[in-house]
Amino acid sequence: MKLKCINCAETYPPEMLYSCIKCDGILEVYYEKDFVKNDSNSFNANLSNTMWRYSSQLSVEHHDNIISLHEGGTPLHFSDRYKKELDGFQGELYFKDETVNPTGSFKDRLISTAISKAKEFGYEKVVCASSGNAGASAAAYAAKSGIEVVILAPQSTPKEKIVQILSYGATVLLVKGHYSDSYKLAKDLSENYGFCNLSTTFLNPYGTDALKTVAYELDNQLKGEMPDYVLIPVGAGPLLKGLYQGYSELNKSLKSVGATIPKLIGVQAEGCSPIVSAFESDQEIVSAWEGSNTIASGISDPLIGYEKDGTYTLKLIRESKGVAISVTDEEIKKAMQDLSQLEGIFAEPTGAAPLAALKKLYEKNMIDPNSRVVCLITGHGFKDMNIYQKMDNNIHYIDNVNDIDSVRRILNIPT
Ligand SMILES: [Zn+2]
Repeated sequence: MKLKCINCAETYPPEMLYSCIKCDGILEVYYEKDFVKNDSNSFNANLSNTMWRYSSQLSVEHHDNIISLHEGGTPLHFSDRYKKELDGFQGELYFKDETVNPTGSFKDRLISTAISKAKEFGYEKVVCASSGNAGASAAAYAAKSGIEVVILAPQSTPKEKIVQILSYGATVLLVKGHYSDSYKLAKDLSENYGFCNLSTTFLNPYGTDALKTVAYELDNQLKGEMPDYVLIPVGAGPLLKGLYQGYSELNKSLKSVGATIPKLIGVQAEGCSPIVSAFESDQEIVSAWEGSNTIASGISDPLIGYEKDGTYTLKLIRESKGVAISVTDEEIKKAMQDLSQLEGIFAEPTGAAPLAALKKLYEKNMIDPNSRVVCLITGHGFKDMNIYQKMDNNIHYIDNVNDIDSVRRILNIPT
């Protein structure tokens, strides 16, 4: 196992390195063909329903170092009801429900691996810049492992996310500005003050590598049938890269001629869509976004200072023959309601963004009506209750318990 630069292909021994020393390019974990673990016999059977069932393809060398709260192994729901909202759609629609991860988002896969590697490398303290979900995850896994943790989050982060982070006992620094400012400070702490950096852009190669397990699980759940489209909320884009990498590896092992990977749809919010902007104007290079403004805090990432992450994600979207698309906050809110009221899945705005994008693409005839579609629902609704509280609902107040006539009127029960 090595680290390899995606830009200049320079390789490094597996250590905690965040970018290529030669060219500052993104590093990824590279497994040689004959890669074998030292302790392949000591697998903990309690982890067999988690993403660690794939531990032989993950970067943690010794199972004793795995810090797990049962991440991954998430359900894939088949859509019966929402599907009917897509007029004439005859295909299959699925929701990969990442909200059921231990801290309520897909970030647990990444953090579980990154903090296990931090332990393996002997770190005693970790830092994580976060728009909320990665911070909650880092705080929980740090609590589990006894490693000291500092979370840096924008002051605009939803209150519920901050409360969750604090509940795990983490030290929280609320940083003025947007996510990129928190990111900059986390980098400084890791470069100069001995913290291992768990920030979930493309910074930590070991964490990013673990997101391929989403593709492995989908392959297993769909019994080897490939989705035609996978819709993914995208900030910097490591989750999209995970799908790309996972399906590329699965194809390699099949050795099938002409095998392809699903079309990967990168979904951003209209108020912060640097990757979509480059996609729509046929640019290869993604530029930082000015003045991000959206309810989807999980993907409100202007990429300032690490625009290269967006450029890489854009390249993968194009290689998969997918598209990048933005959705408005109103479209996201509608998708949140549809997801909860028609499918029973309670998602935060970012988690519902793929459904909003699916509707939009379908109405533009950009989704084949006979295709197999997977939406990744990335974060739980409990993380951002404020948005739901402001929506129309079906609540009624009963002041007099004996006033059955009022109750009948509300419930449309005939007299
Ligand atoms: Zn390089």
